[in-house]
Amino acid sequence: MRLLADLHTHTMASGHAYSTLTENARAARAHGLELIAITDHGPSVPQGAHPWYFWNLKVVPSVLDGVRILKGCEANLVPDSDNGMDLPDVVLGLLDFVAVGFHPTAGFDEPDRARNTAALLRVMANPLVDQVTHPGNEDEFPLDLNAVVEAAVRHNVILELNAHTFDPASSRAGSTAREREFAHAAYKAGAPVSIGSDAHYALHVGRFEAALAVAEEFGFAEERIVNRDAAGVLAHLQGKRERPRLDIGGEWRWPTGPDSELSVEGEGGWW
Ligand SMILES: [Zn+2]
Ligand SMILES: [Zn+2]
Repeated sequence: MRLLADLHTHTMASGHAYSTLTENARAARAHGLELIAITDHGPSVPQGAHPWYFWNLKVVPSVLDGVRILKGCEANLVPDSDNGMDLPDVVLGLLDFVAVGFHPTAGFDEPDRARNTAALLRVMANPLVDQVTHPGNEDEFPLDLNAVVEAAVRHNVILELNAHTFDPASSRAGSTAREREFAHAAYKAGAPVSIGSDAHYALHVGRFEAALAVAEEFGFAEERIVNRDAAGVLAHLQGKRERPRLDIGGEWRWPTGPDSELSVEGEGGWW
């Protein structure tokens, strides 16, 4: 199985990641990917990106060096906002892809399964939410698995099998068993599933090996994995809601030799 899209990548704008968006796109191209979603952390984690960062993603090309770029976010669940997340609906509605997940310091640091589940079910019912990241983080953010999987089916929300969780150096390395349980249950129930790198450095973009091994062990069919290729991702997203800026930013290519010029097609420019 080979996946050609990565729906979970971070840039320096996340505050604890170390590559630029451009470096991530180049790494994706070198790795043979067709599409990446840029999913920087929302403002509730230390040095997470300001809402203006997400609002202004329109200046980024929608295709860069042949790689489709989805301008997205990884919003944090928070206890005290209008929509239960740290980015308002007016910003989320402008993005091509909205991921959401629990993270430390955002207001859910006491492990409380019932409270976490209620908060997550609420945001999954928001039609702007596309994907739940690393749902198997049992130690820090325990969840009611059946309720979350049922909500994923009902609201057509992707449940991610997070590749980074299987890295022994990950802060979530203790939650691989629960991450596997979530992926298996989601798949069996017919929920949309993805495999994300959660790259915090360009060389990790599109690196899914450990999670792919889990998917293959469980016998997942490639056509059931949303990020199998760009067409699969775009068909899923467009089936869920309008994406008003999906094609804004044009198609750009970096120069390839000393005499070549930066080239642009379509609606490129700055606003
Ligand atoms: Zn995360
Ligand atoms: Zn992440």
